[in-house]
Formats: sequence, C-alpha cells, structure tokens
Amino acid sequence: MKKLCLLFFGFITSFTITAGEYLVATPAEYQRVAEELAPGDTVILKNGVWTDFEIVFSAKGTKNAPVSLTAEEKGKVILSGQSDLKLAGEYLHVSGLVFKNGFAPGSAVIEFRDGKELASYSRVSEVVIDNYNNPDRQESDYWVALYGKHNRFDHSHLAGKRNKGVTVAVRLNSEASQENYHQIDHNYFGFRPVFGSNGGETLRIGTSHYSLTDSFTNVSYNYFDQTNGEVEIISVKSGKNSITNNVFNEARGTLTLRHGNGNIVEDNVFTGNGKEHTGGIRVINKNQIIKNNYLEGLTGYRFGSGFTVMNGVPDSPVNRYHQVENAQIAGNTFINVDHIQFAAGSDAERTATPVNSVFTQNLVLNQNGTQPFTVFDDVSGIRFSENVTNTDVLAVLRNGFSKQEVALERADNGLRYPADDSLKAGINRDIQVITKEDTGVAWYPKLSATTAFDSGETVTVAADADALISAIDIAEDGDVIHINAGKFVVPRIVKINKVITLTGAGNGKTEISFERSTLFEIHDGGSLKLTNLSLNGAASPDAAGNSVVRTKKWGMLHNYRFVTENVSVTQLDINHTFHFFLSGKGAFADSISIANSNFRDITGDILVLNTEIEDLGIYNAEYVSLTKNILTNVAGAVVKLYRGGTDESTFGPHLSMTGNTLRNVGKGKRNKMSASVYLHGVQVTEISDNQFDHSEPVIVEHTVGEPQTEITSNIFKATADPKVKELNAEGGPFALIENNSRQAQ
Ligand code: CA
Repeated sequence: MKKLCLLFFGFITSFTITAGEYLVATPAEYQRVAEELAPGDTVILKNGVWTDFEIVFSAKGTKNAPVSLTAEEKGKVILSGQSDLKLAGEYLHVSGLVFKNGFAPGSAVIEFRDGKELASYSRVSEVVIDNYNNPDRQESDYWVALYGKHNRFDHSHLAGKRNKGVTVAVRLNSEASQENYHQIDHNYFGFRPVFGSNGGETLRIGTSHYSLTDSFTNVSYNYFDQTNGEVEIISVKSGKNSITNNVFNEARGTLTLRHGNGNIVEDNVFTGNGKEHTGGIRVINKNQIIKNNYLEGLTGYRFGSGFTVMNGVPDSPVNRYHQVENAQIAGNTFINVDHIQFAAGSDAERTATPVNSVFTQNLVLNQNGTQPFTVFDDVSGIRFSENVTNTDVLAVLRNGFSKQEVALERADNGLRYPADDSLKAGINRDIQVITKEDTGVAWYPKLSATTAFDSGETVTVAADADALISAIDIAEDGDVIHINAGKFVVPRIVKINKVITLTGAGNGKTEISFERSTLFEIHDGGSLKLTNLSLNGAASPDAAGNSVVRTKKWGMLHNYRFVTENVSVTQLDINHTFHFFLSGKGAFADSISIANSNFRDITGDILVLNTEIEDLGIYNAEYVSLTKNILTNVAGAVVKLYRGGTDESTFGPHLSMTGNTLRNVGKGKRNKMSASVYLHGVQVTEISDNQFDHSEPVIVEHTVGEPQTEITSNIFKATADPKVKELNAEGGPFALIENNSRQAQ
C-alpha cells in the first residue's frame, strides 16, 4: 500500500508542470498538493468517504485560469464527521462535494474565508449539505458563510438543517465584505423543519449592525421548498440587494426586508397551497421596490402575512423598525392571499406610518370573496391607484381599486393569469418560473420532508414483548405493527427511532404493561402512533416520575410526531408524578395529538411540555391537540405547555382542545399551578366543547406576540372559571371567552 502511494506521488509530480490535475486520496496528499497550486490547477478528491477532513483551499487563480477543487465523480466524495471547507484567495472553484453524516467543527460548513484571509471572485457550485447538524440543536452554526466580494454560490442542494443558525449567511462584517456583488442562484433549499425559536432563517444578508451598508447581493432562481424554520425565510439586513425569480413553495414565513434600503424584489413566486403560516413579503425601510411578484394560496397573518407594509419607529435605532419611505409596490398578483396588511405593527413605539409610497396596478383576487386588507394606521402616505380586485375593499382604499370579476386561466408556467389579457393589473406574462428540477444538482434526490404514519407495510405479531421489540427493530419508516390480543409485560425501554404505528386488537384486548421507568422512548428519527391499545402502569417501578412515553431525556435534534388514538391508559398511580407523556429538555414535537382515548387514575400529567423554563424563546411542541378524550382522576394537568421569552420568531405553540371530558383533574397537591390546563406563551389556543367536572381551572398566561385565545362552549361543573392573564400587554385580558355554561353539582 505504501509503495503504491509513493508511486502515485511520483506520477502526479511528473504531471505537475503540464497537466495541473492532481488526484488525491488522503488529507495528507491533499495538503502536499494544496501548498503549491497555480492558476489552472485542479485538485480532485478520490471517491469515497473522507472523515474529519478540514479542507483549507487557499490559492490564487486568475479569471481565465481559476484553481479548482472537485470530486473524482460528482456526488461520490462524501465529507463526514467533523469536516468543513474554508476558501481563501481569488478565482477558486469548488464543486461536486457532499457533506453528510457529521457536522461543522467550526462556525460554518463552507466558509469563504480562512481566518482573516477572505476569498473573492470565487465559486462554490454543485455541493450538497444534507442533515449536517450539530447534535446540540441550540448550538449555532452556518452551513454556508459568504465573506469577501464577487463570490458565487450556485446549483447546490441544502436540506435538513435542524440546529440553530442561518442556513446561508452573507456577512458584511468588514469593509472587505461590503458592496460584495455576490451571486446566490439556482440552489435547492430543501426542507427545514420548524426550529422552535429564533435562528431558523434560510438566508440572511447582513446584520442590523451593518444594515445601512450596501451589499449588492443577487439572489435569483433559487427554490425554497418548505423552508419552515421561523418567521423569516429570507432576512435582508443590508442595502441594494436584488431578490429575483425565486420560488417559495409551501414555506412558512416571509421574505423580510428587515433592515437596509434600496432592495429590489421582483419576479418571485410564492405558492402556499393553503398551508398554515405560509407568507409572502414584508416591507420595512426606504426605497424598496416590489414588483411583478406572484403570490397564491398564502394563509399567514400579522408579520407572516402574504404581504405586509410595516409602521416604523420615529428616529429608529439601527436595530428597530425604520419608517417605510418611497416603496414602489407595482404589478404584483395576489390570488387567495388571506392577509394584506398596511401600517402593521402600529403601536405606541411604531408610530411612523409609511410615506411617499405607491401601490399600483396590483391584482388582488380572492375566490371566497373575502377582502384581505387590514389597515392599522394612517395609510395616506401610500398612493393606491389602478389596482384591480374582485372583492369590496376597505373604504379607505376604495379609490385605488376597481372592482370586477376576473376569470383566470393557468398558463404553462404554472401561474394563473386573467383570461382577458388586456387587463393592466398583475404580473407580466413573461415571468420566468424556475422548477425544482432546475435547481440544485441532478445527482442527489430531493426527498419529501417526512414519512407519513401508516404509509408502509403492516406486520402482525403475537402479544409478546420479544416479538414486539424485534418487529420494531426490523420495521421501516411508515410501517404498522399490529399486536394480537393478549396481555404482556415489557421488561425493557423500547427505543423508537423510526416512524412507526403500533396498533392492538382494540376494546382492551391488547394490554401492555412495563417494568422500566418508561415504556417507549422516542429518539432522533422516531415518531410514534399508538392505536387500539390498553396501557397499564401497574407493573412499573415503585418510584416517582415514571412515564408511558417520553422523548430522549436530552439532546434530541430531530423534530418528532406523537399520536394516540383509541387508547386506554390506566393505573399510572404506583407512585407520585407518573406521567403519560414526558418531553425531554430540548426535544421539539412538530405535532402531538391525542384523540378518543381514556385516561384513568394518573398521579402525574397527561402531557408534560414545559421543560424549557429559562425563557429563551424555546419550547417543546408546535401543534398539540386533544380531542374527545375522557380523563378521570388525573392528579396533574391534562397539558402543561410553556413557551417563555420575548422573541417573536415563531408561530407556535398551538393548542387545540375540543370535546374532552375531565373529571377530578388537577387536584393533586404536587400540581403547583393548580390548573387542569396550563398554557404559558402559547400563540394560538382553542378550548371548546369540553366538560370540566370537579377539576382545577384552565390557566392561560399571555406573553409576547398577539396570542389568540378562544375558550368557548365549555361546561364548567364545580370548576372555577378560566383565568387568562396578560404578562406583557397593558389591559386585557385579550381572549374570547364566551358561550361557556356552568352546571350545578
Ligand atoms: Ca429571525
């Protein structure tokens, strides 16, 4: 082997002068070659897995003879473990690499700098970064950090960022990185799960600190596919950028012109397909041009609306909200966009209304006939003219709109245009819409975000612990394991690291009890659905703090889902504080749903989702629903859901609780909040058609945002009225509490 290696080096040395192509097989070989690269040279990494390879690619090429680093075959060089890439110098080109099964040892996976040395006139193309995440989800890093000037990042595939930190950041933190003229194009930004606090942006250009500096970054022909991280998909925090011809598909959040002036947003397509919290464009600052964009099927509201023009703060500090001035909003098409908001955020601080702006020749059509506009303050500083709509708009906007029925037809580019092409309002016919296939790379699959429950095979097993555990071991994502009738005890904690459904014979015929402190423990990659089962705590250890299901106690990186349907849970009372479901610290559920189930004799809580108590804006679950369950003798609460802090970068948590019956819930002496339902900082709450009988009350604490709480049509029997407290807002409480009735004992 050693001999071969030497021979190999003899071979490449002899070619150095003429060919300039160096195939290297180890980091040491790379190192030797990398030290003496000349214009026109190419370093080729041999196919295979490279572990813990911290690549420094530092060289000077020329415009006509760049220095390149590439893969023997594109997609077959895998950088894993603690690998990363730093570029420094000029006219460099890196392509064809895949980063997966690891995470960046430093602050970025790919960085256009090595220490103080920046890269300029350089390009990174056709690279893949796939789920390359720091295992601590609160540890922040970038996947790509652009420094220097005139760099290009293109035709790359970035999917599955789960830890904190912007996916791609353009840094303007020194003069050498300002007015940079970077180009970010034809990239596939795949699924980014809801992060559950600030720091989940897909692209950020600048920071508030340097936001009055111009960046001249162009972002075009990229595909943002369910980039759901937080309220900002793209956060523009600098001036003179152009964001053009990008497609945003079912992406929660908005393209936000957060700081900086003179940006152009043109020819972009936002399609939400009615998915929750899908948004469009949010306008702040001076001289922003928003024209010829297409927005369809967006449901977002408030700062996450399909379109928002903000109020500013008079003489705003650099990091607050600058007044909107001279915004040109022209020729955009809005179809079935639920909310278009002007002077949004108007409050005691944000009093500077938009000035010297125009909103012209826009087409606003809502097929349900509901007008989408909300005006929060004086909008006389926006001149509305020649817009067309099919709805009755607000009186204050009426002069700027003509109302007419507009028939639409779908064009070859997938967008809907008026059948009558003489209509002046709305987008041009010649807008270019990039397809998913034309972004990223052809050689890496663009997979769907998550595997649905029950989408795989069904296997049947005997009512036996070993049979169940081995069936789970060999199951694949989406599989269903049907457990025959019978009673059995499970002696081990069953690890769930795939998407799996466990179902029984129903009507109490399949009964599982367990001997450890929990029965099922959800790990990364795991999601669990339980149906038609009976779960019994009688065989559990005689110790406090057991649970039936929990997540890993700490260090969960992947979001998970948990569903319980037609399940009966009893005898969780062998000791105190025996919960049904317990979230570990740092774990985050996309959704938790419990329906048509029976809970009886429980000394803890049903859902413990309050393990993030440091008020950092982090929480445990995005959507929680409880539907038509019967809960009897529960010493703790049905749900404790807590989101602390003052950050407003998230949409959740959401709680829906309907049609449940609670009898003697919350009265245990260890239930310190004395609540049957305890919600803190929950953004959207619906509690309706439930019966509370001899139970503790619902306690809701509102914090930041504009939390929406509805408590309606419930029956309270020997149960105190719901308590809603405003912890941040003056006055209130701001909740809809109506049609509830009180029954005698
Ligand atoms: Ca943010």
